[in-house]
Amino acid sequence: MPNTRQTDITAIRNILERVLDISESPVPRCRLLSSGFGPSHTLNVRENITGTRACLGCGNCIDICSLLAREPARLKRTAQRTSLALETMVGTDCDRCYQCVLSCPQVDTTIKHYIVKTRAIEQMKHLLNHLKPNEDYYLDQFYLELNHHE
Ligand code: SF4
Ligand code: SF4
Repeated sequence: MPNTRQTDITAIRNILERVLDISESPVPRCRLLSSGFGPSHTLNVRENITGTRACLGCGNCIDICSLLAREPARLKRTAQRTSLALETMVGTDCDRCYQCVLSCPQVDTTIKHYIVKTRAIEQMKHLLNHLKPNEDYYLDQFYLELNHHE
């Protein structure tokens, strides 16, 4: 739940591009580039957490990760559901699908929209590079989605 005044992409574009180009989970760095937790939430917590950029431990990024979906054995490395756990399980094998960033409640919408607008083709390219021959059902699903929206 980012703040109403979110990070201006023009101020972070260079560093964000570098973050999105490496083969490690991008969600922790995108979280740190964001504006922090907004005041409009319904969490029942005593301390004031407005502005924190910390991981909330929701596990969204782990549930959506394409690499972990293909290689669920990696999930056995830790039962934690934090961005640190995601980094541990993914290592340097990240597909660069950016779904972890898009699913994280701590990442600003400005960053998510930048990724959607600039990295869609990149996402497909990297995913295709990582697919094994017996995993072409991912492509079938992609084409089905395309036809469904036509
Ligand atoms: S494979 Fe996708 S969801 Fe998993 S860490 Fe990399 S960018 Fe995030
Ligand atoms: S999606 Fe949840 S678990 Fe993952 S980095 Fe964001 S707050 Fe943390």
